[in-house]
Amino acid sequence: MFQMQVLPKTIMYRKIGAAIGIDLGTTYSCVGVWQNDQVEIISNDQGNRTMPSCVAFTNGGRLIGEGAKNQITMNPTNTIYDAKRLIGRRFNDTKLQEDIKLWPFKVIKGTSDIPMIVVSHNGEDKEFSAEEISSMVLIKLKEAAEKFLGKTVRDAVITVPAYFDDSQRQATKDAGHVAGLNVLQIINEPTSAAIAYGLDMKNDIARDINVLIFDLGGGTFDVSLVTIDKKGTITVKAVAGDTHLGGQDFDNAMVDYFVEQFKRKHKADISANKKALSRLREACEKAKRVLSSIIDTTIDIDNLHDGVDFSMRISRAKFEKLNEDFFSNCIKMVETCLADAEMNKKQIDEVVLVGGSTRIPKVQQLLKDFFQGKELSKKIHVDEAVAYGATVLAAKLTGYTGKRVSNLVLIDVVPLSLGIEIYGGSLSVLIKRNSPIPVKKEGIYVNVQDYQDTLPFNVYQGERSMAKDNNWLGKFDVAIPPLPKGLSKVNVIFDIDANGILNCSGVELTTSLKKGIMVTNYKDRLSTRNIEKMLDDAHKYKLQDEENMKKVFVRNALEDYIYDVKSKIKKIGNTSKTFTKKELEIMEIAIEKASEILNESRLAGFDEYQKALNQLEKVCLPIIAQHV
Ligand code: ADP
Ligand code: MG
Repeated sequence: MFQMQVLPKTIMYRKIGAAIGIDLGTTYSCVGVWQNDQVEIISNDQGNRTMPSCVAFTNGGRLIGEGAKNQITMNPTNTIYDAKRLIGRRFNDTKLQEDIKLWPFKVIKGTSDIPMIVVSHNGEDKEFSAEEISSMVLIKLKEAAEKFLGKTVRDAVITVPAYFDDSQRQATKDAGHVAGLNVLQIINEPTSAAIAYGLDMKNDIARDINVLIFDLGGGTFDVSLVTIDKKGTITVKAVAGDTHLGGQDFDNAMVDYFVEQFKRKHKADISANKKALSRLREACEKAKRVLSSIIDTTIDIDNLHDGVDFSMRISRAKFEKLNEDFFSNCIKMVETCLADAEMNKKQIDEVVLVGGSTRIPKVQQLLKDFFQGKELSKKIHVDEAVAYGATVLAAKLTGYTGKRVSNLVLIDVVPLSLGIEIYGGSLSVLIKRNSPIPVKKEGIYVNVQDYQDTLPFNVYQGERSMAKDNNWLGKFDVAIPPLPKGLSKVNVIFDIDANGILNCSGVELTTSLKKGIMVTNYKDRLSTRNIEKMLDDAHKYKLQDEENMKKVFVRNALEDYIYDVKSKIKKIGNTSKTFTKKELEIMEIAIEKASEILNESRLAGFDEYQKALNQLEKVCLPIIAQHV
């Protein structure tokens, strides 16, 4: 009897306990699990609930998270951040080219126009795609969750900015795959925050409420207008945003300002000094945070460039002035979102803040003024709400049937219009932006020349009228019978799934031959073989990391042992049982020899440390034993 009662519970726990929700942020990431009928945001090994999305390569090994971020100024060219700004993008993308100029690490053009990050790892140059770097961040989060739960995790919901296009979504899904995760769903960040808000609010909602989610993070800005009904259905009415607007832009504006100030004051240009820029950027980010609570601060950096120390004040007002265009763009985007949802500002019941940069007082003030003095809601945690919502969805998708979650229904939208390039170069839109997903739309296209044998379809995503001004997602050809112009017809079908990912197909109408194509420039960029290689590499790096951990462990053991021996010698030296001169000399030589390996800058092999430790022990232990 007892067993029969326990069994279903155990099964349910195993099923739901193993799904995680991940906010894979540009600057910080966060992971949650569903446990005991609630979301647990997981602290990592450093005790932090969010982790820098940063990966570093050193001659000793690989570092992920805080460890990577902490050594960035010493190792700027091999410390990779901002993978999210690279993911799913083409190397020739103009925005990406601007970013490349700012990054201290090197990005080159790989095959099929994929941007590849070049780092020096264990003395060798290595190339990584943004998917691989992101997968390393995901692995670290997955491991933190596994440690917390005490079991393996496979299923995950991962969030993306609402404004991510199809290739960026695909690439994020692949990064999850490379991290060994089964991606249950890709969900928009502000929608995820809306789930967190909805779950928190449910008991208070007596009617449908309109909620504006304002998510300003480190790299991206998203605004989303959702309606939450009292049953728990969250319907996204419209999204707007910018995949390149956030805290880092504010940091960079401050960096540019100080580079100019440095020029003026010290007659030197530091813009080519990567290490100096990296240190300056870090100091600016700190100063920016400080300016959210006090109205002026000082930046002090010793020996910034050519032995010159740098020290300068910056006021909150100056910071606001430097970023006024960015801030006013955020408000413009709120207007666009309202217009797309066909609502006016008076119809908004709640304005909810999400993302670290919403702590900036000026941002809050502009938003409050725009909503005519309305108080902004701070009920949900700005850093954790996105992961929180993703965790709730993960629990639901893995079968958790508790009341708080089972009512949750999500209706999201397509962030950018999708269409096909037609004769003359304009974009024929098949799915309009802000259409609810999943969605399926069709359109008939004819040949424009006599006796063509194929119709080429180029698929684009964006709002510009000329196709080439939008994001190119991919191309597919459909064979047609050679007929005079206007007589061959192809019915093109666009189908968007719940992840916001597009599938395309074309049916030739005289023969009814259907051609199904997964359209994305991404698929021909990263073939299955490539992904398999990344999976192999991920495994290899994991083994290397474990190997390094072992080395660091035994190195520390040696360091501790030397310290121990030294303090024992000192202690015994002060007693009547003190050592002979000869004994002391033998031990000192042994200590010096063992210390040699610690003074090397490289991380030596496990066996070398072990050997040094054993030898030291062999010499000192018998001598000390005679004197205790
Ligand atoms: P993302 O999701 O894009 O990684 P987050 O929502 O985690 O971003 O926000 C990180 C950003 O928030 C960083 O640019 C950080 O500098 C900024 N930030 C954090 N705290 C503050 C603060 N007190 N004042 C201003 N900006 C802040
Ligand atoms: Mg975020």
